[in-house]
Amino acid sequence: AVGDTDYDVIVIGAGPGGYVCAIRAAQLGMKVACVEKRATLGGTCLNIGCIPSKALLQSSESFHEAKHGMADHGIVLGEVKLDLARMHARKQEVVAANTKGVEFLFKKNNVTWLKGAGRITAPHTVEVDGKSVTAKHVIIATGSDSTSLPGIEIDEKRVVSSTGALELDAVPETMIVIGGGVIGLELGSVWSRLGAKVTVVEFLDRLVPGIDGEVAKSFQRVLGKQGLQFKLGHKVTKVDTAGEKARVTIEKAAGGNAETVDADIVLVAVGRRPVTDGLGLQELGVELSKRGQVVVDKHYRTNVAGLYAIGDVIDGPMLAHKAEDEGVALAEMLAGQAGHVNYGVIPAVVYTWPEVAGVGRIEEDLKADGVEYVVGKFPFSANGRARAMNATDGFVKILADKKTDRLLGAHILGPDAGTLIAELATAMEFGASAEDVARICHAHPTLSEAVKEAALDADKRALHI
Ligand code: FAD
Repeated sequence: AVGDTDYDVIVIGAGPGGYVCAIRAAQLGMKVACVEKRATLGGTCLNIGCIPSKALLQSSESFHEAKHGMADHGIVLGEVKLDLARMHARKQEVVAANTKGVEFLFKKNNVTWLKGAGRITAPHTVEVDGKSVTAKHVIIATGSDSTSLPGIEIDEKRVVSSTGALELDAVPETMIVIGGGVIGLELGSVWSRLGAKVTVVEFLDRLVPGIDGEVAKSFQRVLGKQGLQFKLGHKVTKVDTAGEKARVTIEKAAGGNAETVDADIVLVAVGRRPVTDGLGLQELGVELSKRGQVVVDKHYRTNVAGLYAIGDVIDGPMLAHKAEDEGVALAEMLAGQAGHVNYGVIPAVVYTWPEVAGVGRIEEDLKADGVEYVVGKFPFSANGRARAMNATDGFVKILADKKTDRLLGAHILGPDAGTLIAELATAMEFGASAEDVARICHAHPTLSEAVKEAALDADKRALHI
């Protein structure tokens, strides 16, 4: 026992928020347990989120490239065939390697996995499988779950959430994706590359709300060239599964004449909700927001002493790296250190091909706030390496303060945008100016030269355009 409790820290949920928090707390000398009800560790991200979706994105991209991209390189292949069962099996191997990796890390760091569903029965007390355990600090890291729309029932067969869309055992001829956000576009891309005719229905008049509007427009054009179809400013009001195909009713967002379209698969990707049911929060009087998130202060404290929350279950972008950084920050705070998350510099990435990545402010918000800024831009069509790769769609866009030249935001549509954005996040974290980035020596020929050129263009002195 630690003092008069069993543990220093009990974390409920072993997703990227929870497991990283548990490891960091253990590294700092605390006695830690992590409660997880799933049969494997790693949460949504490793089991049914980031990792399996990236495995399928990679496989489907390779398939598409083999089928359509090789001839340009002078590589003549025979008939390219799909072995979907093998593709899923590989995905599962990737998932297992990751979830087992977390199990190994728990052992290495002496974190105890308490298997089962956790319920907080009193302050400092968690019940797991009928057994009560106590800790000085209890952390809610129960994450999020997919949601649907009123009147649309997810059966994970024909009407699927992202979880079902990662498991389809045949390529659908037609697929309707409800929601043009990150998850809908990533999984829509997977099945489109494997041969499905995919139509994305989005309520707003643009894709991926939250990313830079100019990037979103170009992104839509590029996906359109790949064969995805879009119905923006439309909503799905009904999905009828009585017949052989799903019959989807689509209306203008503002209402009006309805049309019906048949589809083999309907993917509902309209958002995620925080998971708080069955945790005993109501009985304890834990404050929740209108959207059902656990309300915390800057130190991740709830209104109940000794109870904290991090990750998708609290406010902020529902991203694995945000959850992880909160886990580290909270563990460090509990150890008496100064944990910190810079919410102004959290990159966001869409892992399609090309990728989309952004960090910091978007142009629309700077305009709305009356901030004076300059824009630097550089297209991949003028980058030698991108040409060599046959990947010239997209551009780098940098936003800098007009007076101080300090970087305010950066947005990239292009090959490996998710990796390229790290340089700009680093620069922003160090308070760099656009000129600082422009003066860094970038290796030639690399995609990252497009970042340098965009930084130069902020001062209208790009060299290669
Ligand atoms: P979660 O990962 O949701 O983990 C919570 C865990 O708590 C779960 O394992 C759950 O079983 C457990 N739990 C809940 N209640 C209890 C209880 N009472 N007792 C015991 N255990 C409990 N983010 C990215 O940054 N990049 C991506 O590429 C990306 N791709 C995604 C793709 C898809 C298809 C989806 C669905 C999500 C994706 N995300 C991505 C989002 C990312 O998965 C989440 O932001 C992240 O998992 C949140 O971490 P978390 O630790 O807060 O919660």
